[in-house]
Amino acid sequence: MTALPLDHEALDMRRGACPALSTPMMTGDGLLARVALTDTITPAQLAELCRLARRHGSGMLDISARGNLQVRGLTETSAPLLDADVRALNLPLREGLAVETPPLAGMDDAEIADPCPLAEAIRQGARGIGGLAPKMAVVVDGRGRLRLSDLLADIRLTAVNSREWKLLLGGTEATGRVFNVLRETQAADAALDLLGRLASAGTRARGRDLGDGLPANEEPVFSGTGLVTAGTGAPASPFGLFALSDGLHAVGIGPAFGQAGAENLAALCTEAERLGIRSLKPTLDHSLLFFGARQACRALAVFAGRRGFVTSGTDPRSHIAACPGSPACSSARVATHDIAADAATQCADLLDGSFKLHVTGCPKGCAHPEPSALTLCGTSDGTSLIGQGKAADRPFASVAFADTNASLRRIADLVRAERRKGENSAACLARLGPERLAAAATPGRP
Ligand code: SF4
Repeated sequence: MTALPLDHEALDMRRGACPALSTPMMTGDGLLARVALTDTITPAQLAELCRLARRHGSGMLDISARGNLQVRGLTETSAPLLDADVRALNLPLREGLAVETPPLAGMDDAEIADPCPLAEAIRQGARGIGGLAPKMAVVVDGRGRLRLSDLLADIRLTAVNSREWKLLLGGTEATGRVFNVLRETQAADAALDLLGRLASAGTRARGRDLGDGLPANEEPVFSGTGLVTAGTGAPASPFGLFALSDGLHAVGIGPAFGQAGAENLAALCTEAERLGIRSLKPTLDHSLLFFGARQACRALAVFAGRRGFVTSGTDPRSHIAACPGSPACSSARVATHDIAADAATQCADLLDGSFKLHVTGCPKGCAHPEPSALTLCGTSDGTSLIGQGKAADRPFASVAFADTNASLRRIADLVRAERRKGENSAACLARLGPERLAAAATPGRP
């Protein structure tokens, strides 16, 4: 396939821009292109993507929190070549609006309803709607074992029972504004109507803005009567082994902090092929789900663990959200992955899965847009420590870069000493509050 030159008008370097395959985004280590998929691919296809990442980029790949593959370190010359070579692979590339379903959708006996038909109806209907915000996202969640509850969505439909869907605007499942509860036949029409309104409002309009503009007779309604509460527990981690329908199994494996070297990832794919695994899907929480026989999945997890991949939801690294940081990103003030790796080994009991420790190179907070119980943020003056907030929120303490992990260890010591019976780390951090956390992080300071 012939490579087209990079379109400089489309090369979008704005804050908050979405790095698509043909319109890569400038980062600290060059251009970054996103490969968003709508379906599974084979291990051989991912191995080929790894080869292209080495040929055209720096050889580093990210798996984003939403399960998109990202190729790093491209140049203005190599980015169009990657675009052409990836398109020649005939992968199920997503074009247009992101309509996301959980990775086990349609194969998960635990889900309340299969979200795939509804998602497909929205995908088809949205083809004629232009002018939406680049990061516009629709989530359709059948509420099975792996859910998309923590992902931000402009429009979210979650299964209430086998016939009804709750529609929320903006935010996560916990923070989104409930718009209505609808029958499946109405849900696609309602989502498409809302998308049409967003398109009319311009490319900056997002789902969270919609409530204010709705006519009076369309004010959000939610009776709450007759709702089935199944599936309301915390969603499972994607890391580990899942038994699916028809004897199929899936195993979730991820590179530490969402970033892998192409060689290591290609070796994992080669081993998956050898074990007879025929398909995989990049998915939430920076993970890859490999689908195959039970024994093959288990053997692949052992192989992956030996090569440094995360293979279990109890791995402390799976409870840290770290952006690429320094030196990969020019905005970064700290080496986030070094801090995160030390945190995982030194503060494992603090990382109990009740919150994501957010380690970010700057206040933009790419890796975790939502508030966290504890954030370590690089600034021009050192590392800021933020409790119960986002990276750009007011810190409770600031420390020198070199003291970052020592401060975190002292906070972990405090939580260990003060934790009440049955209390998790997130609840303990919230109860201790900013003054006690600051005193622990910066002992001796007035
Ligand atoms: S949050 Fe991290 S990746 Fe995002 S701009 Fe800041 S340093 Fe770069």
